[in-house]
Amino acid sequence: MNFSDLGLSHEVLQAVADAGYKAPTPIQEQAIPHVLAGRDVLGCAQTGTGKTAGFTLPMIDMLASGRSRARMPRSLILEPTRELAAQVSAAFETYGKYSRLNQALLIGGESFVDQERKLDRGVDVLIATPGRLLDLYERGKIILSDTKVLVIDEADRMLDMGFIPDVERIVALLPRMRQTLFFSATMPPEIRRLADAFLSNPKEVAVAPPASPAATVAQSLFMVQPFGKREALRRLLRRDDVKNALIFCNRKRDVDILHRSLTKHGLSAAALHGDLTQSKRTETLEKFKEGGVRLLVASDVAARGLDIEGLSHVFNFDVPIHAEDYVHRIGRTGRAGRAGHAFTLATPDDLHFIAAIESLIGRTIPVGKIEGMEPALDHEPTVPLARGGHGKSKRTLPASRAKKPRNHQPHNDHRNQPRHERPVAPRPLPVTMSSFPLVANGVVQALPARRPEPTFAKDDPSVIGFGDNPPAFLFRPRVKLAR
Ligand code: AMP
Repeated sequence: MNFSDLGLSHEVLQAVADAGYKAPTPIQEQAIPHVLAGRDVLGCAQTGTGKTAGFTLPMIDMLASGRSRARMPRSLILEPTRELAAQVSAAFETYGKYSRLNQALLIGGESFVDQERKLDRGVDVLIATPGRLLDLYERGKIILSDTKVLVIDEADRMLDMGFIPDVERIVALLPRMRQTLFFSATMPPEIRRLADAFLSNPKEVAVAPPASPAATVAQSLFMVQPFGKREALRRLLRRDDVKNALIFCNRKRDVDILHRSLTKHGLSAAALHGDLTQSKRTETLEKFKEGGVRLLVASDVAARGLDIEGLSHVFNFDVPIHAEDYVHRIGRTGRAGRAGHAFTLATPDDLHFIAAIESLIGRTIPVGKIEGMEPALDHEPTVPLARGGHGKSKRTLPASRAKKPRNHQPHNDHRNQPRHERPVAPRPLPVTMSSFPLVANGVVQALPARRPEPTFAKDDPSVIGFGDNPPAFLFRPRVKLAR
């Protein structure tokens, strides 16, 4: 199929040709005719599939007729992060270069004054993050009753970031008679519920099974000890003569630590996370995109959906806690049919997260070796992993980490021993994220984190809540008082 078969205007087709696109991507093929026909669309597509053009191209044509009024945007695009909002704004610039549309970008960290000035002039396309949009609405700077087209992009990430209540508030401010386009990389039940609430008789389009990484990304897993991760990363960077790489850490604090460590070792690196000012984030990103810095250490939120041309490598310095994040992370490379590499450093404690990822993507990640480093392998006997999702994980876990049968009885039943001879009960571990099994596609994907084996039987008379030192009065026989 050609772009000219989709019903787009001559101006838009010319801009698409200038961008060098030869043919529409599957999501564009499926979505554009329905958007142009005025239908609501529910799109299951991840970044890298061309979904931005899938909604911007038809919107440019739909908004070509009609005029905007001060403070009353004609269309609204909600994005979870400032970077994604800026990317969509750039897409409108590229594809709308032969059309005369006014757009405004409302993102946190930028001056209110400039944004208000733009709104006063009247905008056809308003691209915003939910928080900043509500700020400006509450200041009386925006009227949303004339917004006829709404795009909710990256809905699953909005959910992860806790933006759904804001999104619900915004949608309640829009007219009921509108066209809504809703995109999400995955469709968990909460997202489905929102889609049902926001969309009216939508055309559903999906371009890939949820959360499947691009086939052009070569994935490898390296088993390392926690203290050997930085060394392993440096060796891999040297070994592969990495051109440019995004390196993901799970916590902002670790982004800074790793960034400092790489710089100390003479490597060209920068850091990107949500605690940096917007101007710093924009500057860092620009520098990385232009090749002024080779390595970008980033958190998930800051780097979600970033479109960096020709990114050769993605490193998971930390294994992501949510399996879906793995797919989003490695999707930054191998874009537009190019080859890419995704390297994951995992410690033995990460095995249950790896199992969840493998179940989600439906394959095992090949294990690689780093020359000069001993892999952190566990030599305990292994047992097969529980399977889940649509994948068949073949990796095995050491027996000590495998799930125990439900009716498992402790071997050490101490009920007949005198109390003082019984072993001390271990204190319960604090409840953390890893205490819970991971669930993806409605299926338990991973084993719960290791918990101490109970050493007391059910009818043990220990006083629960006082550990091993219950006060003596609790054991005193009850005395009946004479009246
Ligand atoms: P997106 O999924 O919207 O983030 O787009 C991913 C990348 O694909 C962007 O760099 C776009 O410029 C590019 N792109 C979008 N549509 C096409 C197309 N039809 N042909 C080639 N590249 C495209």
